Amino acid sequence: MSDHNDQKFDIFIIGGGITGVAIARDTAGRGLKVGLAEMSDLGSGTSSASTKLFHGGLRYLEYFEFKLVKESLKERETLLSSMPHISWPLRFVLPYSKKISFKSDSPTSRLLSIFMPWAKGKRPFWLIRLALLLYDSLGGRKILPPSKSIQIKTDTEKNPLKKYFTRGFEYSDCWVDDSRLVTLCARDAHSRGAKIMPRNKVVEATKFENGWIVKVKDVMSEKLSTFYCKLLVNASGPWVQNVVTYTLKSNSYLSIRLVKGSHIVTKRLYQHEKCYFLLGKDGRIVFTIPYENDFTLIGTTEVAHKDLNGCLNCSADEKRYLLDFVNEYFDNQVTTNDVVWSYAGVRPLYDKSSKSSSAISRDYFLHLEKNADKSPLLNIYGGKITTHRKLAEAAFKKVEYLFPKAGNDWTEASSLPGGDFKVNDYENIVSDIQYKFNFLDQKLVNRLVRSYGTDTYNMLESKKQREDLGQYFGSSLYAFEIDWTIKTEWVTHADDFLWRRTKLGLKLSQTQIKLVETYIRKHVHLLKY
Ligand code: FAD
Repeated sequence: MSDHNDQKFDIFIIGGGITGVAIARDTAGRGLKVGLAEMSDLGSGTSSASTKLFHGGLRYLEYFEFKLVKESLKERETLLSSMPHISWPLRFVLPYSKKISFKSDSPTSRLLSIFMPWAKGKRPFWLIRLALLLYDSLGGRKILPPSKSIQIKTDTEKNPLKKYFTRGFEYSDCWVDDSRLVTLCARDAHSRGAKIMPRNKVVEATKFENGWIVKVKDVMSEKLSTFYCKLLVNASGPWVQNVVTYTLKSNSYLSIRLVKGSHIVTKRLYQHEKCYFLLGKDGRIVFTIPYENDFTLIGTTEVAHKDLNGCLNCSADEKRYLLDFVNEYFDNQVTTNDVVWSYAGVRPLYDKSSKSSSAISRDYFLHLEKNADKSPLLNIYGGKITTHRKLAEAAFKKVEYLFPKAGNDWTEASSLPGGDFKVNDYENIVSDIQYKFNFLDQKLVNRLVRSYGTDTYNMLESKKQREDLGQYFGSSLYAFEIDWTIKTEWVTHADDFLWRRTKLGLKLSQTQIKLVETYIRKHVHLLKY
């Protein structure tokens, strides 16, 4: 092993989750020299294990988190407009019935109990309506439709709910493909000059006269590299304190609570495109969301988590909890046999209290250690997919005194790669591609445009007939797509492609997955960067 490849950066970022890549994109676009190391695949931590919503967080209103909700609500449409391929509006149905107790121990419910003891900490119908009106107005909406009270048609085939749910509410939030979001932010950062290094672990960082010396180990080759930077950013999510203690060897300590959240994926539970927002007897909420056409995504749980080195998965208890939750609402009972996949992630919540996991704020906290301004370190605690862009701007604000020549805020009106079209132009792009490349089937075109947006044109450049697409693996997957992700999206392992750049792992058979693994192993040299 040797030290080589000396390189100097203004900013070096530890962690290639949404927080790290958002800061890389923002600061590279301001003209700063940025390096980022991710010890595994991009987005392989919490950022590919979320519920995949750009949401204001309706539930947080109960906890008086008005600042967070307002910022998140405003962001939904900004983000939707900048990535209309991987994000789209969703409608949520919140069913209501006196048969289910909508209890909560939130500050709002406790307050209500004082004035209306007979409510006993319940969430009355009018309170939810009021919360939704607030949700509609706090962030301002131009694209998303408002909330409304609804009568649920119980006798239609499409209604999966038990018959006693006859009324409820509908409101809007947005879907986002979280792991593609990370990849696209990284691509954009790279196109603006950032050096993005997946599968590179920061093993040591030491202060030196005007900044930091950062030692990075390539986890594939075990090669060590040394980098120098003025500002070090610790965006390692759940590992934030590990990095402070073991990588930076600092005594600095801020309280962080690790809370595991799991999701299950079942075969499709109902035949319409709306989601359900289900309130549980324990005061928690669970979403059901139509997923990858053939499936339903159900989540999430909240379980205290300790061991970041161990294998992270959805436990049998968590599966049972989610199934029981849904079975309270749906007529057709779902069993463990219906579960086709599950995943788990760890929320790194910034926590100064002994509150319950549900009650801890989902807001972020930026902690700048100035070290007499010579070796500044920015530690990032908490955060959400929804607030990644605002977090990156706020992070820059904290350190702008170090970079007086850096450019202004710029990301609000800028699209991510492939997202340079209007939200309601999606169907037109699909039709245009279908027309120009009439040898492609519609399923493939839809999937490509949902994943790569207008980059689909670049991927298909020079393709004149089906034979030009390369090896066929099944489920609308051809080799040209894998080649693109190896060349431009840092795919080096089959899981990167099957479970993060796409979700084709859900659809391909074991034999087909083996073929993809072999193909990627043989073609990994195509990587451009
Ligand atoms: P991560 O994505 O975990 O990234 C940190 C990265 O640092 C990791 O990839 C890790 O490998 C890397 N790393 C660690 N140590 C090192 C090192 N020494 N060297 C190099 N790399 C290192 N938010 C929303 O807005 N909407 C939602 O619907 C939503 N749902 C959620 C559901 C669940 C169950 C959970 C757990 C979270 C959810 N969130 C949601 C929150 C959101 O997912 C997280 O806040 C966000 O993904 C955190 O991103 P991050 O970059 O901070 O952390």
